[in-house]
Amino acid sequence: MAYDLKGRRVWVAGHRGMVGGAVVRRLATEGGEVITAGRDALDLVEQTEVRDWMAEARPDAIVLAAAKVGGIKANNDFPVDFLYQNLMIEANILNAAHQNDVGRVLFLGSSCIYPKLAPQPIAEDSLLTGPLEPTNEWYAIAKIAGIRLTQAYRRQHGRDWISAMPTNLYGPGDNYDLNSSHVLPALLRKFHEAKVSGAKTVTVWGSGTPLREFLHCDDLADALVFLLKEYSGHDHVNVGSGSEVTIRELAETIARVVGYEADLVFDATKPDGTPRKLMDSSKLHALGWNRVRGLEDGVRSTYAAALEAGTL
Ligand code: GDP
Repeated sequence: MAYDLKGRRVWVAGHRGMVGGAVVRRLATEGGEVITAGRDALDLVEQTEVRDWMAEARPDAIVLAAAKVGGIKANNDFPVDFLYQNLMIEANILNAAHQNDVGRVLFLGSSCIYPKLAPQPIAEDSLLTGPLEPTNEWYAIAKIAGIRLTQAYRRQHGRDWISAMPTNLYGPGDNYDLNSSHVLPALLRKFHEAKVSGAKTVTVWGSGTPLREFLHCDDLADALVFLLKEYSGHDHVNVGSGSEVTIRELAETIARVVGYEADLVFDATKPDGTPRKLMDSSKLHALGWNRVRGLEDGVRSTYAAALEAGTL
């Protein structure tokens, strides 16, 4: 299949987020019309607002990148926010999309939907084969419901809607708040601040041994546009970079990029989370997409962008 985006109205839900922003940038070259809704104009948690907005905006396609997101601590601290808001956002948008006959929807999940002890690298069919990682179960359960709802619309109503599962992401527009951010922006901030203040140590949560895979959001956006144009199917598709690092190695990479040597102090009072999280992206590669930048290059441009934007 090839879905031509030329002349189509594509709603990027969640355009202010890191992923949504990257998708908006990427779609600019496809010849379609990108539509967005500001938070003041549309509260995605409110069903009637979403229905009314969609009936008015009439998108041809939707990239559903809107979600309540956060790192390991935020998920632990605010379980209701992560479960309730995400369930409402996806249910409201998919329901309204069906009512308004939206032909293509790309729903975005996350690699944390997979069982904590899934065989690595994690293939798509690991979904729902074992218990989840408890620290982000709230978010994961909402996202699993979203994948199933997308599939249910395909099965019951013949909708050509699809889902993609990105691995851990980073890039411009990330959240740098230390209480709610993911590890990569958190460590960029910590090393940058240590450099500015001359601090001798940088604190890294947990043991530093967990393995994580990181993908730049612009690489993800490129893969998502590829899937929107080329993929049709019931099963969701993993989107990963294919390479993993320990949290310690990530900290060392960030130290090189920031240009500051500091002793790493591992804070054992903070959770490690899942021990390893590497996606099997062979399905995406078999479909024909394989364009990933290296971690150090990606971190370098992300650091430059954060300095330029005044985020750091
Ligand atoms: P996860 O991939 O869902 O577990 O989310 P995170 O990106 O928040 O955490 C990934 C790993 O990095 C976990 O083992 C964290 O304990 C570890 N980590 C080390 N330092 C930090 C930090 O400053 N912030 C965060 N969020 N995680 C950190």
